[in-house]
Amino acid sequence: MSKFVLIGSGLAGGLLAAYLGRRGYEVDLYERRADPREGNMVGGRSINLALSTRGIHALEQIGIADEVLKHAIPMRGRMIHPAGAGARTIFAPYDVDPNKHINSIGRAALNTTVIEAAQRYPNVRVHFNHKCTDVDLDSATANLLNSASPARTSSSQPLNSSTTQPITASGDAVIGVDGAFSAVRQSMQLKIDNFEYDESYLAHGYKELTIPPGPNASWRMEKEALHIWPRKSFMMIALPNPDGSFTCTLFWEFEGPRSFATTKTDDDVRRFFCEEFPDAVPLMPNLLDDFKNNLTGSLVTIRCAPWFYKDKVALVGDAAHAVVPFYGQGMNAAFEDCVVLDECLAEFAQDRQRAFTEYFARRKANADALADLALENFIEMRDKTASRTFRAKKKLDHFLEAALPGIYLPLYTMVTFTGIPYAEATRRARLQDRIMYGSLAALILALLAILVRAVA
Ligand SMILES: Cc1cc2nc3c(=O)[nH]c(=O)nc-3n(C[C@H](O)[C@H](O)[C@H](O)COP(=O)(O)OP(=O)(O)OC[C@H]3O[C@@H](n4cnc5c(N)ncnc54)[C@H](O)[C@@H]3O)c2cc1C
Repeated sequence: MSKFVLIGSGLAGGLLAAYLGRRGYEVDLYERRADPREGNMVGGRSINLALSTRGIHALEQIGIADEVLKHAIPMRGRMIHPAGAGARTIFAPYDVDPNKHINSIGRAALNTTVIEAAQRYPNVRVHFNHKCTDVDLDSATANLLNSASPARTSSSQPLNSSTTQPITASGDAVIGVDGAFSAVRQSMQLKIDNFEYDESYLAHGYKELTIPPGPNASWRMEKEALHIWPRKSFMMIALPNPDGSFTCTLFWEFEGPRSFATTKTDDDVRRFFCEEFPDAVPLMPNLLDDFKNNLTGSLVTIRCAPWFYKDKVALVGDAAHAVVPFYGQGMNAAFEDCVVLDECLAEFAQDRQRAFTEYFARRKANADALADLALENFIEMRDKTASRTFRAKKKLDHFLEAALPGIYLPLYTMVTFTGIPYAEATRRARLQDRIMYGSLAALILALLAILVRAVA
């Protein structure tokens, strides 16, 4: 049986190892961080995420969806917190069907669950504290620095030359599941002629803040909702956690007259939050410490091609297609990659290059479509959700979805609650909009014509 070397045991790495393990492949999974079960937070990314239909489907295939969903909190719609002191919140359901919801799930718990699912297969071995530096593509060999030597006594001890040992890991193929700043992809960039690569950063960064639990681990705002404070050029969101807390994320400009760059002192922070999020401030007793101590992350979109090299190397998840988080789909799409790659490897079991080629062909256009959708949704979330016209359009969407079941599906529904490929969902939504607006225009013209005739 072939042997795969996987680099990165984040969300997709663990799941892919489980899929490959189930097929009977030998799998060695290398992760630069310590074992998350040793209390090492999967830092640098969000604490919690929205898991939806595509991700759940991928977890179901490997039999761990129920285990994951046990820890999830359903979010049935957006709870909009308009600007201005005393403004009342507005709830906007995600779908006409109240049973359709997305799920708030802790990244660390999910990461642990997928790693444990992989480790149930005796042919899967997970090696923590191994950082990949580069990959020799032709021999499918990863060069790694092992910091798990006895000399390293603590998982928080930094990697340095005195505590790391170089090792190599060879297989029939190396798969880079090592996230947006993938070392595997960098090796492909150096080796493959005409490798296409594009990375673009938003002018906004993000910072995580906390609303702690209320008395008896209760939630201090509506629990089953994704809270949004839309403020036109920026916004804050909050997702519920099982312990009664909410994790808030402020998406704000890095630079500018009012921005992360100009908000330095406690007074600056307090003033900004009291002006913009007055209802949240009393719920955030640790605001000043959180703001000072938590990192400000950047938001990147990465597109590249191809996602494979011969039958030797392939990329999965953010390593192939990092997207900004505004559609809540990055992880869901990464999980969908695992399903498709697994299907392709089964379909072309004797020809791995063909399997990689098919996987890339089936996913690339969809990843590109998702990247665009995610960027567009930032404008929807931070600006449009506050507008009456936008909420009226959502209601019309839900009305048409109920009136024309199976024929009319709002874009959000297709992306979040179905497995319709992202590119097809985008095309279908554009067509629906053309028909809907065309029909409305025709109706208005017909009414005008009747009116003119009646007056004449
Ligand atoms: C603020 C924010 C909010 C988000 N919210 C959502 C959401 O609600 N829903 C959603 O679906 N998606 C969301 N995402 C996107 C989601 O986090 C990613 O799409 C997802 O984590 C991708 O999984 P991955 O396994 O490809 O990469 P990662 O989860 O980044 O995992 C990569 C792994 O590789 C390891 N690694 C990296 N380099 C090396 C190396 N050189 N050697 C060895 N190991 C290495 C890392 O330590 C890590 O464990 C969000 C992202 C952000 C930034």
